[in-house]
Amino acid sequence: MTDTALETFVRGLPKAELHMHIEGSLEPELMFELAERNGVVLPFQSVDEIRAAYAFSNLQDFLDIYYQGAGVLLTAADFKDLALAYFRRLAADGGTHAEIFFDPQTHTDRGVAFGTVIEGLTAGMAQAQAELGVTAKLILCFLRHLDEAAAFATLEQAKPYLAQIAGVGLDSSEVGHPPAKFARVLQAARDLGLKVVAHAGEEGPPAYVWEAVDLIKVDRIDHGNRALEDDCLTARLVQDGVTLTVCPLSNLKLCGVSDLKHHPLKRMLKLGLKATVNSDDPAYFGGYLLENYLQTAQALDLTRDELATLARNSFTGSFLDDAEKARRLAGIDAYLASH
Ligand SMILES: [Zn+2]
Repeated sequence: MTDTALETFVRGLPKAELHMHIEGSLEPELMFELAERNGVVLPFQSVDEIRAAYAFSNLQDFLDIYYQGAGVLLTAADFKDLALAYFRRLAADGGTHAEIFFDPQTHTDRGVAFGTVIEGLTAGMAQAQAELGVTAKLILCFLRHLDEAAAFATLEQAKPYLAQIAGVGLDSSEVGHPPAKFARVLQAARDLGLKVVAHAGEEGPPAYVWEAVDLIKVDRIDHGNRALEDDCLTARLVQDGVTLTVCPLSNLKLCGVSDLKHHPLKRMLKLGLKATVNSDDPAYFGGYLLENYLQTAQALDLTRDELATLARNSFTGSFLDDAEKARRLAGIDAYLASH
């Protein structure tokens, strides 16, 4: 396919995004707008200065600026604007469903109420469904650099809002904070009827992915790249049909791979792993969902069948119910039959 034909094909392909941190979709322009609206003083003079600061090379440097940027989010209207801006980008990329992460501790630790975050995000989701036809679910992430007690306190704050939350996850600094650290709080969340996911094997070792699977019994693995270092683990993930939410441009930006040509996505598909493509923190990592598909497709020479498999995996690995999954998969079949 030519680049134009590829872009047209992938844009039209119905697809879901399963790994996207809503705070990581905060574009410099919106950061400035919200700072002005809320009277927050930023340590940057211009949008260009913020973009220059995005030249980080590892997860920790990224997280430092990411938490600084989140400081402009104060009211429900801010969270709604943030969510809507993301959903508009997703819809323009041909995304029809998203399961988005949010980090309540990043906000409650600054004095923003848990309910304010939920109110804003769900208002954005409702407007996105009405105006764009995009559906969405929320996944509450515990910050793994904080302790178990803080995670339990956050779960307690979430209890009045369980109807609005589909699942819980683990994000932030991975190395030194294995999934086992949060085994009890994740089990408590599961007992409340929530799905459980975890970032594992992004920078952390295969042992963390084993823990996520065996100890936490996750419903999905976020990233999972380093699972490929362990053949037994890879076989186990294939056997159990565990969905991996892979984020190619994020891996490139954070130097998990030196070049997208070396990205393991194609190998994952050939091994039979249920890999998906996602943008992670698109404002910071150089592209939204479509850009992740296109750059990876070009670098790895992904075939039309492989692209269709990635789209199918994004729905089979989602938390939509079985009837809705079947309807979405039929939509992909219909698209392929006519393109
Ligand atoms: Zn992530």
